Amino acid sequence: MDVQSVVSTTRHVPNALKIAIDERDGGTCKVRGCDHSLGLERHHTQLFAEHHLTTYEILGDLCDEHHDLVTYRGYEIIDHGDSTWGLRPPRGHTNAA
Ligand SMILES: [Zn+2]
Repeated sequence: MDVQSVVSTTRHVPNALKIAIDERDGGTCKVRGCDHSLGLERHHTQLFAEHHLTTYEILGDLCDEHHDLVTYRGYEIIDHGDSTWGLRPPRGHTNAA
């Protein structure tokens, strides 16, 4: 099975996807330079409410701190294209993560 083509239309992440993502991301936070491995939360990069898709490409693990920045503080995920992410602060903030 080609796991990258696994698509779920629910929030549930199929086991095969979980394993593939853990392998890709090495079990640490996806933000470049962040090596937190405890309390990771699986994050959907695109609003699930809009797309209703759970796929390999839009999922990644974020540590507590970075997950909160994205979820509650309006930070935007930038995909570096090398399987790491950056965070862009919302307008008006200057301290990049
Ligand atoms: Zn982090």
